[in-house]
Amino acid sequence: MSRIRLLPETVASQVAAGEVVERPASVVKELVENSIDADAHKIDILIRRGGISFVRVIDDGSGMDRDDALLSLERHATSKIRSASDLEAIGTLGFRGEALPSIASVSRFRLTTREAGAVAGTEIIINGGKIDIVREGGEAPGTQVEVRSLFYNLPARRKFLRSENTESRNIEHQIHLQAIGHPRIAFTFMRDDRLVLQLPVAANLNDRIRDLYGSEMLERLLEVNGEASDNIDIGGLIGRAGVSRQTRDQQLTFVNGRAIESPVLNAALREGYHTGLMKGQYSITFLFLNIDPTAVDVNVHPAKREVRFRDPKGVREAVVRSIRQTLERGRETWREKFSAPTLVSPEAPGQPVADLTLRPPVSFPEVTHRELSGLGRVVGDRGYSAVGLVPPSVVAPNRDEVVAGAADPGRARQPISSTAANSQQFQIIGVLNKLYVLMENADGLVLVDQHAAHERILFEELRGRMEEQGVPTQRLLIPQTFDLPPRDADWIERNMSILQIMGIGIERFGPNTFKIDSLPAFLNTSDPVHFMQRVIDDLKSSSASSSPMRLGEEMIAKTVCRHAVKANDPLRYLEIEKLIQDLLACDLPYCCPHGRPTMIQISHTELEKKFGRKA
Ligand code: ADP
Ligand code: MG
Repeated sequence: MSRIRLLPETVASQVAAGEVVERPASVVKELVENSIDADAHKIDILIRRGGISFVRVIDDGSGMDRDDALLSLERHATSKIRSASDLEAIGTLGFRGEALPSIASVSRFRLTTREAGAVAGTEIIINGGKIDIVREGGEAPGTQVEVRSLFYNLPARRKFLRSENTESRNIEHQIHLQAIGHPRIAFTFMRDDRLVLQLPVAANLNDRIRDLYGSEMLERLLEVNGEASDNIDIGGLIGRAGVSRQTRDQQLTFVNGRAIESPVLNAALREGYHTGLMKGQYSITFLFLNIDPTAVDVNVHPAKREVRFRDPKGVREAVVRSIRQTLERGRETWREKFSAPTLVSPEAPGQPVADLTLRPPVSFPEVTHRELSGLGRVVGDRGYSAVGLVPPSVVAPNRDEVVAGAADPGRARQPISSTAANSQQFQIIGVLNKLYVLMENADGLVLVDQHAAHERILFEELRGRMEEQGVPTQRLLIPQTFDLPPRDADWIERNMSILQIMGIGIERFGPNTFKIDSLPAFLNTSDPVHFMQRVIDDLKSSSASSSPMRLGEEMIAKTVCRHAVKANDPLRYLEIEKLIQDLLACDLPYCCPHGRPTMIQISHTELEKKFGRKA
């Protein structure tokens, strides 16, 4: 007896629905995408009880005639592609022709639609996939879909739904995604008869973000302008370095207008931010990639959340590059704040306000580069210089290999140019709690975490040296040999030259045995073998997506923390001034290599608001 049977159409739809319609938020996603594809200018969404009991989406888009309305509910019926070759370049959000029949097969479904100019519209009512009513309806031009009692005929599915609150929040997130992806469309969102969102048509992404999250959010973002590469156009808004969140909720990526989740892009974001983010934190990004549609496959997942890039490496590199450039450009706005003159009092124009601030008796408004360079020695005693990083406990200096700059504070790399030093305008007010330097700049009050600031300076200085000539090394008194499992041995073998640049002198001594005879000079370790093991573990786990130099950077970032001036180290005025100037000369001055902020700006406006001088 034959056992194979063709499934009835409604059952097949319910099976497909399992993939397309996971939860109420998927219903909202599919319906809103259809409205966007229909060129709607306004989309109104209403849900009740987490969307489980009711979802309604109304648009003012193209609408459908009666025949199309009926056809739209058939499986694999779509107006968006015609042949398999169209799959290679998809320009619409939908294309699978699955959403409407899937949703209609697992709910009580009502569609009304009307084309502009048509005398009448069409109304179709379907219950659990079975068409019950088709008749003329008189709604406004556009389309309205109502979905009641989702999964009423699939109790197993219904059990998997979360609380109404959670489902509502998923829906709201989904609407945010669509609204951000399409600023020129107006959206409203009602939840249980309460108006949650009312977004007018926005001229651009900035306005949409302001309407959604307020202007304070906008101030923390930088505009990406992508000169990334010929075939990828990258734009959007991303958080400044140091601006981060504990979840990925606001790390949003769009490819050709479609919100997608992509491990390739996530890795690229992490790499692009690199030291601009704290461990375990996520950037805030509204990143838009426009790629030739033939270079990206969206037909990967029924819910169309994922894409496959034809050239993932090229995409990653382009994203990393534009994130970097954007973050570094963000530094310029900081610089501007520090190069404009501080507030002047009306009585004495041109003179900094001096009366009420507790400045130290000696003030050095114009420290020149020459004066500063001599400071290396002074601050070196305090530990504020690279020289403080050489604690040769188990290592003995090897004259040939120690790079001069490391041992000679006077020759330590001076990152600031004299013009930069002269054009920087800030007044140091004092130090709070032996940790926070209080300063005034053109914009208002600035607080600097002296430890974080010093970490950033040391980090960039060491990284600069590593890139130029390799990390200075010191020979071990007694070279040590150690064995490694075959895979680690293989890894070392392949990365020998990078390790060398990082200041680690290592060579093969036997099949799986290595000899280590020198270590980075700034390192303070009594157990080189243990250190090596840690380096291998750390670097192996990070190397998959990173560039070789990144490995060295990570090692440096880990070490500088221990060597930077501590919270309780009292610094002298001159040292503080030099610290700030060095910090401002850094590539990413506003966060430490672990991504914590180094400076916090409190603007005059914020102060005025706090004191009730301004609304
Ligand atoms: P897909 O979007 O993948 O084509 P759907 O099942 O979501 O498949 O929709 C089927 C078809 O119904 C669409 O191709 C479109 O022509 C039509 N359609 C769906 N929703 C709307 C709408 N809101 N306005 C106009 N046409 C619509
Ligand atoms: Mg669709």
